[in-house]
Amino acid sequence: MHHFAYRAGVSHSIVLHAEAVDISDLAAAVGTPFYCYSTATLERHYRVFADAFAGMAGTLVCYSVKANANLGVLATLARLGAGMDVVSEGELRRALAVKVAPERIVFSGVGKTRDEMAFALDSGILAFNVESEPELRALSAVAEARGRTARIAFRVNPDIDAKTHHKIATGKAENKFGVPFAEAPSLYALASRLPGIEPSGVHMHIGSQITELAPFRNAFVLLRELVGTLRATGFAIDFVNLGGGLGIPYRSDQPAPPLPADYANLVKEEVGGLGLTLLFEPGRMIAGNAGILVARVLYVKRGASKMFAIVDAAMNDLLRPTLYDAHHEILPVTEPKPGTPMVVTDVAGPVCETGDYLALARPLPELRAGDLISVMTAGAYGAVLASEYNSRLLVPEVLVAGNRYSVTRPRPSYGDMLAKERLPDWL
Ligand SMILES: *Cc1c(COP(=O)(O)O)cnc(C)c1O
Repeated sequence: MHHFAYRAGVSHSIVLHAEAVDISDLAAAVGTPFYCYSTATLERHYRVFADAFAGMAGTLVCYSVKANANLGVLATLARLGAGMDVVSEGELRRALAVKVAPERIVFSGVGKTRDEMAFALDSGILAFNVESEPELRALSAVAEARGRTARIAFRVNPDIDAKTHHKIATGKAENKFGVPFAEAPSLYALASRLPGIEPSGVHMHIGSQITELAPFRNAFVLLRELVGTLRATGFAIDFVNLGGGLGIPYRSDQPAPPLPADYANLVKEEVGGLGLTLLFEPGRMIAGNAGILVARVLYVKRGASKMFAIVDAAMNDLLRPTLYDAHHEILPVTEPKPGTPMVVTDVAGPVCETGDYLALARPLPELRAGDLISVMTAGAYGAVLASEYNSRLLVPEVLVAGNRYSVTRPRPSYGDMLAKERLPDWL
């Protein structure tokens, strides 16, 4: 469910809108390519998720900032009461910049530096998700040196197949994430002896774009067992962090992923009633459907065996198709007239890489130079993964709310791009 739909525009055509904003008007004002986010969709997804746990005492939804770190997006979610899950000092600073209370922020990631730990401790965040013994020892040293206490949850790797793309599975033993399940009890014992460390919770995050409930159930059962073991040994575990990972529909011809309500029922069944605070870290589920990437067709090119639509957005703007073999629906911004012939088309960008494409062999209404297209479901892991590869300007981001819009990250100028670098004094 999202708020991008065809509506009557000026002239007589039917045009894609973000809420009440005409995408072709936006393209004229901002230039292409650009990301466009819908406030109503962000709000809806956050509420659907948070409300699914409404009856349960003690839940905190920590939006995973890495899915979409745009300050306008973060501020929208912060206003709804979202906590945040961050994976770097930069993300923590973004969360603090939009006034998320530090006691609603958790810090994840296998490679936190001592400087990042110090900044997070001084900020007073809720908890660290600790991913290894060396990290634990470093955190203890930093906390002790600053006279602070770090509340921690070990991120436990349950060796579960999340049945998702191999590049976004994180809960298998061979993945770099978390501590081995079997070693968790001894690590909690160690943690309770180290200065500056307060072991308070258990964390699991088994992967992203998970489209079945079974892997979650397997993980939550293990989590419950571990909490039981730890409590029996005398540890005061007061929260579990169930991570993120709930999938979203990228294509209409495949079964829909589980509803948040079904996920919530599973959570209640497996870890409800244990007197634990429940933390969640949804990212994609909140932001994915709330964003599109708008591009303009530069050239239509007839190859020896197929058609290519060369557009002005590329892999540096949206890496998901290249990195994850991801499928994004492509919609022409002007709704095609009924009966428009379909042409099997590769939608590709200007970057000099064979892997630079947004869609392959896609039946699309015949495109022409100058047409606008919208790449759907691009709100998560889209703009955050953008780069200046090929010295292309970083793609701008626009936030829509009703009939208003704001360019929350403007397109830099070429002057801005060059001014970021310095020549060495010998040149
Ligand atoms: C990426 C990540 C998430 C968010 O995952 P989604 O699939 O976007 O919900 C949550 N927790 C951790 C630790 C992550 O690394």
